[in-house]
Order: sequence, then C-alpha cells, then structure tokens
Amino acid sequence: MENLEVVVLAGSSAITGIIGYYLWKEAKYLGHVKDAPRLTIDRNFKAIVDEAPKHTIPYAVVEGSVAALGTPLKSENASGLLGVIQTLICREHKTYWSGSTRLWHDTTRLIRNISHTVPFELRGNKASVKVDDPLSAVGLEIPIVHDSFEPSSTSLGEHIVSWASGEKTKGFQTMERMLSEGTVLTGVGMISTSTGTLMLGPPATSDRLYILGRTGFSGVVRDLQSKLNQLRFMLYVSGSITALLSALWAYRWYKQYCEKVAHEMQVERVLQNRAQDDNEGTNIDQEINEDNTCTICLTNRRDVVLLECGHICTCARCARLLQPPQCPICRQRVKRVVPLFNA
Ligand code: ZN
Ligand code: ZN
Repeated sequence: MENLEVVVLAGSSAITGIIGYYLWKEAKYLGHVKDAPRLTIDRNFKAIVDEAPKHTIPYAVVEGSVAALGTPLKSENASGLLGVIQTLICREHKTYWSGSTRLWHDTTRLIRNISHTVPFELRGNKASVKVDDPLSAVGLEIPIVHDSFEPSSTSLGEHIVSWASGEKTKGFQTMERMLSEGTVLTGVGMISTSTGTLMLGPPATSDRLYILGRTGFSGVVRDLQSKLNQLRFMLYVSGSITALLSALWAYRWYKQYCEKVAHEMQVERVLQNRAQDDNEGTNIDQEINEDNTCTICLTNRRDVVLLECGHICTCARCARLLQPPQCPICRQRVKRVVPLFNA
C-alpha cells in the first residue's frame, strides 16, 4: 500500500515537472512573439532586411495576402476558387452488424486523403515575401470550402445482400480544405534575403515558433495565451495533487514517528520498574528453558505481554526494539507492553 503511494507521488511529481517545463517553453514562445518587430511589406522592406546582419532578421511579424507563385490550385468543388494549399478527403460511412453487441454500429473508412501545395508569397504594398515550408508552421488552420454527404441509394436486392453480409454503405462524405488566394495571413518567423529573394521561414532557434495565422497578430497572441492558460490550469491541478499527497505522506510519517517514540518510552518505563523490582528482590527469578526464552534474542526470559493481542513472546528489551511496534507472532499493532510477573 505504501509502495503504491510512493509510485503515485513520484508520478504526480513527474507530471507536474513536465507540465511546468511545457509552460515555461510556451511562455518563452509567447514572449518572443510579443517582442518580435512588426514589419510592413512595402518598398523599403527588402532594404531593411538586406541591411540586417547576415541579411537576416531572426524573428519578425509580417502580414500580407496569399498569392501563388506560378499556377494556383483549382478547387474541385467550389467553382472559380483558386488556392495554394488544398486537401481532399473522402470518407465512406457505413454500418456493420456486431455479433458481440448484437447491434448495428456506424464507422467511417478513409478512401482518399490527398494534399497539394504550390509555392506562394505574401503580398503587401508593392512588395512581397516568399513563404518557405508553410506546412511546418503552427496555427495554420486551412478552411473547409466544401463538405457534402451523398447517401448511397440501395435497391431491394442490395438491401438483402447487405443484410446477409452484415455490412452496408450509408454514403460518401467529400471534404475539401483550401487556403485560397487573397487570404490575409500573419506570419511570424525568420526573414532573410540570403538566397537573393525575400523569404519568410522557420526561425533558426528552437525557442521560437514558426507561425502562420488567419486571424491577425492579435489572433496569434490569443491562441498562444489560451494554450498558456490551459497549461497553467493543468499545472495548478497536478501541483495541488502533488502537494496534497506530500502533506499526507509527511503527516503519516510524523504519526509513525510519534508512535515509535511513545512505544519506546512506554517500554523504557517497564524496564525501569523491572530494575527497581529486581533491586528490591520482589521478582522471583525463574529458570530459563526453551519454552520461556524470548523468540527474538533467544537469550532472555519472556517477561512482557504485548497488547491487544496478548502474546507473550519477547523480553522487554526486544519489545522496545520492535519497529514498527508490531507483534512478531501475529503482526498486530502493539498498543501497550505490560510486564509479566511470575509469583
Ligand atoms: Zn529478547
Ligand atoms: Zn500477537
């Protein structure tokens, strides 16, 4: 039982530590985003980056509208919509008969999941910056431009077949996500002209996040802040559990310690009284034989009763050393040690 407590306490301490680490990391991310210079994509932009050390600004915020470099992607479902990142998903919805639950269950099966991307840039005022590796950025939620469900029509014959096979198709769901041209994106990352073109990309150090967001700079900050708040709450919960368990543990240890001291003092009194009695000659010495030697030291005579169990199995000296105060025969807790007098 006590081992389990140690395991739980160690586990909750470790979890608290891990959450604390992530909280520290996220707070650092947010701090860097708030401190990052906010630059405007205009005619002066390239000159500013060119003049920076190594033609690089390590971390900055820019905002511009998405424009494909080359031929943009065409939406399959929304006519006339052009974009730069496209995901096409098709799922089959079906029900199957489960023999164990004796019920029909719904499931889906992924039939198609394709992503296409084309290089793109963020356009500002008569200037633009190319976006490097956009899929590695966080915060870029690509909007759904199409989501439809087509129920499959089943004839009577197919109905009977599906009943017999225990599986039937309900229909097909088609979903398309697309980052369309003209979407205003906020990018936070490293800006460099070292390759000749202005480029926004992942920062060089791991304590900064590469972010692309559709809800403006305030949206980027808000998202990071809400993640931070979630982690703070989790830290509060796991920290409280750890503190509670530690307090419980400390209390139990203290109680055990008090019991130990009380037990020692009590047996000490028995020993003192015994010594006094011996001096006064009131205690009659009895022959020591196999039946009355202490079961612990195998030398002294058994001269105390352990209560509540009532076992007579040790000498007073050994009874004092019982830690925790427990009867060596029946393991019951020793509440009191009473001297045994043979008259
Ligand atoms: Zn003994
Ligand atoms: Zn006992």
